[in-house]
Amino acid sequence: MWRVLRISILLAVLAFVALGAAVDRFSSTDWNNTLWVGIFPVNGDGREATDHYVASLTREQFTDIEDFFAEEAQAFGVALERPVHIELYPPVREPPPTLDPGVSLPGRMWWSLKARYYSWRVAGDRLARVRIFVLYHDPAGTHAVPHSLGLQKGLLGIVYAYADQAAHAANSVVVAHELMHTLGATDKYDPQTNLPVFPQGYGEPDAEPRFPQAWAEIMAGRIAVSADEAQMPRSLREVVVGPATAAEVNWIAD
Ligand SMILES: [Zn+2]
Repeated sequence: MWRVLRISILLAVLAFVALGAAVDRFSSTDWNNTLWVGIFPVNGDGREATDHYVASLTREQFTDIEDFFAEEAQAFGVALERPVHIELYPPVREPPPTLDPGVSLPGRMWWSLKARYYSWRVAGDRLARVRIFVLYHDPAGTHAVPHSLGLQKGLLGIVYAYADQAAHAANSVVVAHELMHTLGATDKYDPQTNLPVFPQGYGEPDAEPRFPQAWAEIMAGRIAVSADEAQMPRSLREVVVGPATAAEVNWIAD
């Protein structure tokens, strides 16, 4: 009896979550209204220098992401003048649940539910439809950060970034990439080599000569400078959205 009740409740919760995800998927990519995206800074390493950096952040610094989405969406015929609005929210004290990269599929699903619960708990009262939690790390104490992620189910992203003004423009590239994931875009690089996949991961696949490419495609994340070499873009000014990604986020009919 209790077992049946427990399973029924769990199934009801899962059905509710699945329905919510379907509504989110449809409404976040209709591009009839500006999509509100919240940046929630988190001190990722507990250092004092990181606290200072987080306190110095301003909303204006994130307009590079708004401009990128506006320019790229308009290139695909989206009529909205400002497809994405970025809002900067006060820092969040509690870090999001961490995902062990080697975890099994059920473990990943459980983590995804925990991440959605976390997002609802720490930011549920905010207007932002998409929530990007940016975990800043002091570059003086951190040389490598884990992989950032973006979930379409739950409309949330977890971005690992460097707490350094000089890294801001590169951090924005990662935020834009994870934001695209929340809207349904898929990666366009080879996970074995990290190299952009041709042609959909190239900024300008028809260029002659093909190398070096001038731009990165947002979901490849890197500029193919030769057949076996790719470079991180320095800012969103070196990044474009390709037609495959544009179709995934509903900027063009597929
Ligand atoms: Zn990705």
